[in-house]
Amino acid sequence: MLVASAFVVLAALYGDAPDAKHAWAVHDWNRPKPAKVEVDEKGVPSDAVVLFDGTKESLERNWCDLNCGPTKWQFRDGVFFCRAGGGFGAVRTREEFGDCQLHIEYRHDPALIHGNSGPQMRGNSGIFLMGQGYGYEVQVLESYFTSQEAEGKPGFVDNYADGQAGAIYAESPPAVNPAKKPGEWQVYDIVFHQPVWKDGKLVHPGSVTVFFNGVLVQDHWEMEGQTTHRWRRPLSQHPAKGPLTLQDHGCEVEYRNVWLRRLPSRWDNLTCSEMSACPDKVMEQRRKTAEKLFAKISDPKAATADNVMALAEVVSYANEGEYNAAFNAALEAYRANPGDKREVDRVNGALDILVRGKVIPKSAKVSAK
Ligand code: MG
Repeated sequence: MLVASAFVVLAALYGDAPDAKHAWAVHDWNRPKPAKVEVDEKGVPSDAVVLFDGTKESLERNWCDLNCGPTKWQFRDGVFFCRAGGGFGAVRTREEFGDCQLHIEYRHDPALIHGNSGPQMRGNSGIFLMGQGYGYEVQVLESYFTSQEAEGKPGFVDNYADGQAGAIYAESPPAVNPAKKPGEWQVYDIVFHQPVWKDGKLVHPGSVTVFFNGVLVQDHWEMEGQTTHRWRRPLSQHPAKGPLTLQDHGCEVEYRNVWLRRLPSRWDNLTCSEMSACPDKVMEQRRKTAEKLFAKISDPKAATADNVMALAEVVSYANEGEYNAAFNAALEAYRANPGDKREVDRVNGALDILVRGKVIPKSAKVSAK
């Protein structure tokens, strides 16, 4: 919240200065504005890759079998599906992705839901975020009924918690169970960050966040390993991109409305958290901004308040080399011949930010005449 008069223009050096973990100052006007994204009437953002829009053409264009041949998954009335009894094999996207936001909807036909071959045959499918081989599965399963009495018909219903819908399979059960009845559409919104490796060593295990029918069921779950039936398997390094893949587990499951947004790695973010700020990259960005701002100054030698403040902003990004020399020279010249108290207060307001950021000592501030 801006606590200031409406007439105050947010000037340079208004908030705390850039530092080793922050490429930008607080409330930094030099910071790029986020790209504009429009959301259409179906809720699809304009920067999304639409992987299935309800047409057969989009199924054929975007999806294939594991060998990149035509998929056996079928199209019917705006949905695509694998059939009960299996034999279709998994379906994957032709394009490959890494970190992403994924929206996907699925539905079970109540007439085809049974667990006669075991509880994991109740409409089992799954969303493999980077392909079936690397093992990041968000489970798809009929999970509204969790007891035989409730469903009122025979068949295995009870499941292990880390195998029901919304689970990171074999690792993390959903926090709660917001599944709707079979026959209704179920909606997943998933945020996935793949594990990060450096020089063959795991730097971060990656994370999966899942909203299930709008309810948060996986809250930034950090991957323990690959999602494998019965076995704990450690994470394993793989290419940075892989196909979004849907599992054929021998059960009929319908899918619709599939779109995905590519995300940058949050571990490469310049602006926040202990982990993500890479000091070298932060400094690289700060130098770029300093260079841009310095180039805008027509006379760096001017002994004016405006010039001192402009240079103070430059050194808030990079207090080095010609920037540092120009700032010190202009400050010294201004201190020898300062303006009135109102002007000096303005200059000192900017210098205070540098003092707080330990860029300059308190003694560098200017005394009015
Ligand atoms: Mg599955």
